[in-house]
Amino acid sequence: MMKFTPEKYSITDERMKPFIDPAEIWGYLNNTISSKERVREIIAKSLAKQRLNLEEVACLVNANSPELIEEIKEGAKTLKRTIYGNRIVLFAPLYIGNKCTNDCLYCGFRISNKDAIRKTLTDEELVKEIESLEDKGQKRLILVYGEHPEYSPEYIAHTVKIAYGVKKGKGEIRRVNINAAPLDVEGFKVVKAAGIGTYQIFQETYHPEAYQIYHQHGRKADYGYRLTALDRAQEAGIDDVGIGALFGLYDWRFEVLALVRHTNHLEACYNVGPHTISFPRVKDASGQNLKTGYFVSDTDFTKLVAILRLSVPYTGMILTAREPARLRDEIIQFGVSQIDGGTNIEIGSYAESTAKKNLNRGQFQINDDRPLNEIIDELLDQNMIPSFCTACYRLGRTGEHFMEFSVPGFIKRYCTPNAILTLAEYLIDYAPEHTADKGWKVINSTIDKIDDEKMKRSIYEKISQLKSGKRDLYY
Ligand code: SAM
Ligand code: SF4
Repeated sequence: MMKFTPEKYSITDERMKPFIDPAEIWGYLNNTISSKERVREIIAKSLAKQRLNLEEVACLVNANSPELIEEIKEGAKTLKRTIYGNRIVLFAPLYIGNKCTNDCLYCGFRISNKDAIRKTLTDEELVKEIESLEDKGQKRLILVYGEHPEYSPEYIAHTVKIAYGVKKGKGEIRRVNINAAPLDVEGFKVVKAAGIGTYQIFQETYHPEAYQIYHQHGRKADYGYRLTALDRAQEAGIDDVGIGALFGLYDWRFEVLALVRHTNHLEACYNVGPHTISFPRVKDASGQNLKTGYFVSDTDFTKLVAILRLSVPYTGMILTAREPARLRDEIIQFGVSQIDGGTNIEIGSYAESTAKKNLNRGQFQINDDRPLNEIIDELLDQNMIPSFCTACYRLGRTGEHFMEFSVPGFIKRYCTPNAILTLAEYLIDYAPEHTADKGWKVINSTIDKIDDEKMKRSIYEKISQLKSGKRDLYY
């Protein structure tokens, strides 16, 4: 087990005080006892769609009997069904460049990895990548960058604008999210002006001393600058932000409480929590140098996803292709609302006819490389509605405003109908016959279950408009 010696870390952003107190979090974890009654009370509170406090989250984390863990998973499953219905949002990651001045011990892009094949897409290559994603039916992207002076806010904004501009056949990208290094307020303003959706930054580990071990060089060594990044994003007017922790660097129980603490901080300061929470587990990477003893087992991983779902009922939760298909299919039920599909993270690889599968070209090893249509097919088999919806962000339903809508009824009024319409578009434009047959059946049975007759008629009307050639219809 790696030992962490306390070291000072610098907070250069004086406007924001650090809001993670390791002693407070460990205090909750060490002093909270999980009785059966208490765990059941907490699950019931969450099913009543109330946010859990840190003591309650610690109580779920500390519940270790198989019976209670099963109840936590069942609770998460029920909550997911009642809040999110049967839809699951799909997106694709698109790596723009892997130059990096940091040296994160776990990452294939780290500056000291001489085996990494460094590449930044040219504008022409970027257009080709996007065309090939559009050819598959993708509508939502997350653009990913290393941290390097070349990837300035202006450059990020430039690539976002290219992504929105490429239209091939019936294809177009309707939402571009970002995963990139923390910026200053001015930088966030530049990126916001390009029309991004979510700005996503993972703290990697919320434990300051552990953080110091993994990030010794480059700008990323500054824990505080990263921790306060999304405060600066808010200050710049970006109210749609995503948080995450890289599980496997430190004790998963600490990271779960810290993610909830970060959520509380954003809610308290800006009246709006994170749009999404991500919980990547660390995977093999070229040049990786990790011996942590903190790797998270599949069993603990499933439990932590269920606990996060119960802790923050209204926050979107993302599970990526880092995880194998079988595990993804299982874990989706416990609270995941977004997954990537048809993922390839080798730079420039979407436009290639055959995948090279060379670890030196990507950031880490992915474990679910199913094509988008195969994932859609399998979601339909489970009676789920794959969704490419981008309506909220385009209608300004984000931030505090979005939180107002994040109440029961919202999903019924907007998300389910929009999921149906975007799936219908996909079936018409991209799906092979067997997927289309399945897809229409799922659409019809989902519409049947809608109790609002006016809404039902309106959806059927919009579907016939899609069939006669209209596109991009939403509520
Ligand atoms: N370079 C920017 C940064 O570090 O903020 C952009 C993010 S990086 C390209 C995307 C994320 O991938 C990181 O925040 C980290 O959590 C995750 N990551 C890095 N190495 C990984 C690995 N070996 N396995 C799984 N995820 C990894
Ligand atoms: Fe660079 Fe990000 Fe990888 Fe760290 S995680 S080496 S900052 S790309």
